[in-house]
Amino acid sequence: MINAQRILVTAALPYANGPIHLGHLAGAYLPSDIYVRFQRLRGREVVFICGSDEHGVPITLSADKEGVSPQVVVDRYHEMNKAAFEQFGMSFDNYSRTSLPLHHRTAQEFLLEFHRRGILKEKKEKQFYDDQANMFLPDRYVEGTCPVCANPDARGDQCEKCGTYLNPMELINPRSKITGRTPVVRETSHWYFPLGDYQARLEQYVREADERDGWKENVLQYCRGWFKDGLQDRAVTRDLDWGVKVPLPGYENKVIYVWFDAVLGYISSSREWSERIGKPDAWRKFWLDKDTKYVAFIGKDNVVFHCIVFPAMLMAWNDGERTEKYVLPANVPANEFLNFEGEKFSKSRGWGIDVKDILTRYPADPLRYYIAVALPEYRDSDFTWKDFQARTNNELADILGNFVNRTLAFAGRTFKGVVPERKELDRLDREMDEILSRTPGLVGDRFEQYHFREGVLEIMNLARAANKYFNDSEPWKTAKADIDRCGTTINTSLRVARALAILASPVIPSSSEKIWKMLNLPGEAARQSWDDAAGTGIPSGHRLGTPEILFTKIEDDVIDAELRNLTQPLSPPPPAEPAKQSVTMEDFKRIDLRVARVVEAENVPKSQKLLKLQVEIGGERRQVVAGIAQHYKPEELIGKSIVVVYNLQPAKLMGQESQGMLLAASDSSGKLVFITPSAEIQSGSVVK
Ligand SMILES: [Zn+2]
Repeated sequence: MINAQRILVTAALPYANGPIHLGHLAGAYLPSDIYVRFQRLRGREVVFICGSDEHGVPITLSADKEGVSPQVVVDRYHEMNKAAFEQFGMSFDNYSRTSLPLHHRTAQEFLLEFHRRGILKEKKEKQFYDDQANMFLPDRYVEGTCPVCANPDARGDQCEKCGTYLNPMELINPRSKITGRTPVVRETSHWYFPLGDYQARLEQYVREADERDGWKENVLQYCRGWFKDGLQDRAVTRDLDWGVKVPLPGYENKVIYVWFDAVLGYISSSREWSERIGKPDAWRKFWLDKDTKYVAFIGKDNVVFHCIVFPAMLMAWNDGERTEKYVLPANVPANEFLNFEGEKFSKSRGWGIDVKDILTRYPADPLRYYIAVALPEYRDSDFTWKDFQARTNNELADILGNFVNRTLAFAGRTFKGVVPERKELDRLDREMDEILSRTPGLVGDRFEQYHFREGVLEIMNLARAANKYFNDSEPWKTAKADIDRCGTTINTSLRVARALAILASPVIPSSSEKIWKMLNLPGEAARQSWDDAAGTGIPSGHRLGTPEILFTKIEDDVIDAELRNLTQPLSPPPPAEPAKQSVTMEDFKRIDLRVARVVEAENVPKSQKLLKLQVEIGGERRQVVAGIAQHYKPEELIGKSIVVVYNLQPAKLMGQESQGMLLAASDSSGKLVFITPSAEIQSGSVVK
């Protein structure tokens, strides 16, 4: 285990293409926050860095689908996730975003350095091109039939039906996602990073880092798998217009591949932090001083980028003549996945729960505690509502909350809220002292080794032991028979309560501060010393604050309601109609919409779908044929106001002339309703 005074901690940059959910918290975020808060209590110099990853094709696809620019998408999720993290109590020193100019400069600096030193290789390759949209198509912009399972809608990078990883060229009947046309093959050039050249050094790096700091077995397994398959050159550039521009001639229409720029986001976020605190060089001692311990927290899907790709990039940089030599991660503690009620979180199936959503119904601390004891440290684990209720009620409320409350309430009643003296100790006091004095070391060891779950359980064990100590000491009896004995019990209990506030503060920070306030101690629990947590009691004569409820129990009907809600997201949400391409105001104004009144309505002979309407538009009569016969009877329409497209070219439907089109809305169930003004208005009125 590396015992460093200065620690750089990064947490995986969440992708700004959707809201973060509980699975993300269990993967990288809660463990990193516990670790950072713990190290601060140990007096270590820590900087905690994160931010939004805002580039890449999934974001441009979302933007295309919504008919907005990618910036709109990333702005939305950056703000949303930043707020959710704050509410959850993440104590980042900086939460940045990769669309910032500072980040673009940092990524370009790395690319240019590698290019200048001849590290990158340029390769010509054939790629699909959409000659109507005039652009090369990134893999996910091509769809077609899977060559393995014949799924007609396989994506250019992977068939979601059979799971096979694909190259767009392998698709049968490929088509462009932008125009639907068959793409043509054209030649394009890209720069590649020679990851394979670093394989031997990377294997050595992982081996030595594991020897020094004890890497997690699951992480080592992933690394071994990658090494066994052999590392390949990776394209650093791609044909896309959203991302960090490639500052090389002939590459004006290309951007840096997101895998290359995203990991550098940790460095640019650190630089942003330095500038923000007015110490522009502060980041340097964290990144460029070999005595820094760098710990990169991630989820298991990110192992290759943090254990292999990013270290190789830093090695490549450090090989140069520049004086800046970056530290490599000393450890990459990646968790497995947290499932939700037995199934994987799935955005597309609507299965799971977003952080911002659950925090509208429950405070952060019980959620932090439950996720901490359910962390998927060795294997996938499960979030269940019943378990969340049980941990909140039976542990937080009944053990920790109860112990702190009964101690303070007793001190209030029997000692007028003043800490009594600690006199002669008996066997129970000495046992309690012993448990208390060994807990900071025990929990600290677990936390230092990234075994957060076990550390948190030890903290709860201390509260459990304290409750038992209180029961066995029976202060309500000694209060009458031996007030000194009673005072010693309460003094010892308050000493444990104080220690619990400090030791639990990495896990349940706001509850810890509540305990601190109830004890009426100066400063904050989060600013005390971990190592002195057990040794320092509360001086006798100190006046205590007022006890209040620490944790509210969760009632059965609340959990029942959550479980009832579960059945809804299980069935996939109806597919939303894809958004059409955006239009200008001028485009829209070319369409003349008017209010019309239906004067007559009748069925069109031999047609099940069509109704023939005679409508009045201002002073004018027109005939409009509309496909609404399956939804309305003719008599339901007579006298109604509708909206028609007034300047639509006349057309013949089933031999009937139609001089306009009726506007109606339909949903995925097939339901259809016509559009009508919300109040009486003259026919002929313009709709705009
Ligand atoms: Zn397939």
